[in-house]
This record gives sequence, C-alpha cells and structure tokens, in this order.
Amino acid sequence: MQRVFIGLGSNLAAPAQQLRSALKALRKLPQVRLVRCSGFYRSAPVGPAGQADYINAVAELNTDLPPLGLLDQLQAIETAQGRERSLRWGARTLDLDILLFGQQRIDLPRLQVPHPRMAERNFVLQPLVELDPQLLLPGGESVLALLQQCPQNRLQKVSE
Ligand code: ATP
Ligand code: MG
Ligand code: MG
Repeated sequence: MQRVFIGLGSNLAAPAQQLRSALKALRKLPQVRLVRCSGFYRSAPVGPAGQADYINAVAELNTDLPPLGLLDQLQAIETAQGRERSLRWGARTLDLDILLFGQQRIDLPRLQVPHPRMAERNFVLQPLVELDPQLLLPGGESVLALLQQCPQNRLQKVSE
C-alpha cells in the first residue's frame, strides 16, 4: 500500500464541478482508497496567455496499484471528462498529475515522480501543506520549505 498525492486542476467547463466529478471517479477506482482532498484553490494560469483561472486541489490516496497502472486510470478519467491534448499547458477540463507516490522516485518516459515541476507551483504546494504540513519528498526536503521558497503566484482558497 502506497500513500499517493494527486494534483487536480481544471479551467474549462465549470472547473469546480470537474474536480468534484474527478473525486467521485477516484473513489470508484479499484485498489484505490480516497483518503481526503484539500480545499479548492483558484490560481492564475500558467502556460499560453488568455486562459481562464484554474481551480486546483490535491487528493491523498492509498493504493495497491503500480505507478503506471494508476497513471492509466488517471488518464482514463481525464479522457472521460473531455480532456483534449492540443497546446502544451493549454486550457483543459481536467488534469490529474501524480505528485508523490510513497517515497518512490520514478523516471520513465511516461512518468516522472516526484512531479518535476511541483517545486515552482504554489497551487500544488499550498494544498499539499494543507493536507500534511510535515510532508517530505523522497530526498527528505520539506514540502513546507519548498512552499516558502516558491514564487508567490496569485492563489486564493475558494469555497467548494
Ligand atoms: P505538467 O506535467 O507540467 O503539469 P500537464 O499536466 O499539462 O503538464 P499533460 O498533458 O497532462 O501535462 O501530460 C503530459 C504527459 O506527462 C502525460 O502523457 C504523462 O505520460 C506524462 N507524465 C509524466 N510524469 C507525470 C506525472 N507525475 N503525472 C502525470 N503525468 C505525467
Ligand atoms: Mg499538470
Ligand atoms: Mg497532466
């Protein structure tokens, strides 16, 4: 059993509703237990200009799935919710990223964990700290310390 953290994000087609639907789908996955989810946060978009704000959250799971098996399930949920892959970092109905998979480091073409860009994203670090202020990366770095060093992009907790 591994303790896993998933980053959720959406900026299209009723973003908060997209996150709620994704949480429902995560609850139904075999060999996955949804432990809890952070609050929802509104964040400034990264990537191509002219996109709407994002809604982001982080969910904590326990799972017996292997990392690529979990990635397959997450990509199936993205597809079921209308995710289209066009522009890199373009607007999307749903993004589900594996942030941490236990204390594993993974470096495969399809999957890098810890998520390679999490240290520069306050919309990931803030909800992670909300879930567990003591959380450490596989190298022993504190997620709270990463948040304190991270660019302070616009981020606001919203009611769900
Ligand atoms: P970013 O990775 O910067 O957040 P993104 O989430 O928009 O960008 P996607 O289009 O969702 O990127 O995914 C592109 C590819 O990234 C996926 O096909 C997947 O194989 C790969 N990938 C690598 N590491 C991860 C990870 N930790 N979680 C999810 N996907 C990953
Ligand atoms: Mg992403
Ligand atoms: Mg992604």
